Amino acid sequence: MVWQGMLTLAWMASLLPEMRPIKARGAAHGGAMRKPSNAEWMHFGRSPEGLGHDSASRRYRLLACRGGHATRALPCEIEIMAKVAAIQASMNMPNERRQWMLEAIRNEARLCAAHTGRPNLSERVMEAMAAIPRHRFLPRSMRAAAYDNAALPAGCGQTISQPFIVALMTDLLDLRGDEQVLEVGTGTGYQTAVLTRLAGEVFTIERIPELAARAQRVLAELGLDEHVHFRVGDGCMGWPEEAPFDAIIVTAAPERVPPELAGQLAEGGRLVIPVGPAGGVQQLYRMEKRPDGRLDSRAVLPVAFVPLVCGQ
Ligand code: SAH
Repeated sequence: MVWQGMLTLAWMASLLPEMRPIKARGAAHGGAMRKPSNAEWMHFGRSPEGLGHDSASRRYRLLACRGGHATRALPCEIEIMAKVAAIQASMNMPNERRQWMLEAIRNEARLCAAHTGRPNLSERVMEAMAAIPRHRFLPRSMRAAAYDNAALPAGCGQTISQPFIVALMTDLLDLRGDEQVLEVGTGTGYQTAVLTRLAGEVFTIERIPELAARAQRVLAELGLDEHVHFRVGDGCMGWPEEAPFDAIIVTAAPERVPPELAGQLAEGGRLVIPVGPAGGVQQLYRMEKRPDGRLDSRAVLPVAFVPLVCGQ
């Protein structure tokens, strides 16, 4: 603790000389607004594409909103954040980095509230996000970036979703703790692990056997597999033997909602699913089954997911 405090002080002192030239550079721009370059966004571990077309400008607004001197502080803020990330990585502080990730999720939830209607995600969901070690679900080469609020490559051409999207989709399921949940697209198993903290039984389907096996192994190593049931196969068909489900989450995007999934939803059950063409504009939907069997559907947010591959 003491040495960590001393290191932090030493680091803050080391920043002081850097602040002046950065401010001076801001003044040299005449205070004109400047949009951060893609390279600067990457300092945050985020791609400018992120959630949807306008997410980069929304993030820009968030930064620009902070404090009256935002125009000049912006490049400075970016450099400080980059330095913090580098120091945290070098000091190997996963817990601290996880706190940064939670803060990023909270910020993005507030930023997207006009779309999602949920400025604050539930504390239960945030606790689950805090509890699951995301780095364990990533290939070793990607672990340094594990707590960035960014989607990352997860092997076999697939991705692990951005933490904010994982938290939001989980929140939209409105789980109380005793539900039977179906997940389509196990991938790394990270989303599965989050679900184990919030539901009764989790049934998860993955079409790529290598990914399913790795996810199963990591969940077992973490002691989180007791209430998880794995299947390798086509998740578009659902898991009819275990239906109906109180909640279904799909972490890859079909062009249309597979009717089998809608059919396996219990009355009052929630389906959270991205829908849209591969590489095109997709929308995240939250659907809820009414007593008459029809689905109430709400578009929540523009998103970018890998395609849901049905019937192969
Ligand atoms: N939730 C995952 C991310 C999954 S990426 C995580 O937290 O890591 C989407 C996954 O869906 C990929 O692993 C892909 O192989 C899988 N997938 C695509 N089509 C599928 C299908 N029809 N059935 C099951 N899984 C599918």
